Amino acid sequence: MNIAVVTLFAGMFRAVSEFGISARAVRQGALQLRLWNPRDFTEDAHRSVDDKPYGGGAGMVMKPRPLARAIDAARRENDGPVVYLSPQGARLTQPMLQELAATPAMILVCGRYAGIDERIVDSRVTREISLGDYVLSGGELAAMALIDGVVRLLPGVLGNADSAGNDSFAAGLLCGPQYTRPEVFEGRAVPEVLVRGDHQAIRQWRARQAQARTRARRPDLLAAPAARIISANEDEPEQNL
Ligand code: SAM
Repeated sequence: MNIAVVTLFAGMFRAVSEFGISARAVRQGALQLRLWNPRDFTEDAHRSVDDKPYGGGAGMVMKPRPLARAIDAARRENDGPVVYLSPQGARLTQPMLQELAATPAMILVCGRYAGIDERIVDSRVTREISLGDYVLSGGELAAMALIDGVVRLLPGVLGNADSAGNDSFAAGLLCGPQYTRPEVFEGRAVPEVLVRGDHQAIRQWRARQAQARTRARRPDLLAAPAARIISANEDEPEQNL
């Protein structure tokens, strides 16, 4: 997957390119990450990328020209959708990440200050995505969350050991509790079913835990049309709720 990011803070993306699973994806060639800084596309002596808002008011707005040039330069190498990370966009969800993971290329635009000039949204942005109903100082953390979430869904990036299929939201439910050694920790024992070696019983226990946890913490997921009960028995078809 080819991801271009338009950002004033390219260094922040080392968190993606140098750490964890996304770094592994870069090393494997599954992720090509290219960073474009609007400041490199300025022409004035101060290399200014922001200016006062028309009509007055607090804060500065990202100027359209350096941003347009940066996006256009990215577009010459990347023909994917131009996604503006914005609190006004559609909220990022796991199904959206799955859809984006099937997109071979995309350009992510990170705003700063009070946001970007609306004419960039009108002329170049094809989609707006929000990390959630709160305001961050910039789009970089949102872009990195999107990249991390997408990359772990790319074929071959996760090994079997950490497959995404068992994660929360993969089947519309939260995943249940997980345990590792030691069998007893601070007097708390691992549920007995997990150490007995009966794989059918383990599957059933995990399915019940996922349903119970989802009902307790996120009943809205069970109400969603896409919510499914993960079958405890591989032979049983999954049931729609
Ligand atoms: N004035 C804007 C508004 O009220 O909609 C908020 C601007 S915010 C301080 C600066 C930048 O942070 C935005 O341009 C956007 O790129 C990014 N940002 C802030 N909150 C975000 C969120 N929830 N999801 C994605 N990006 C966000």
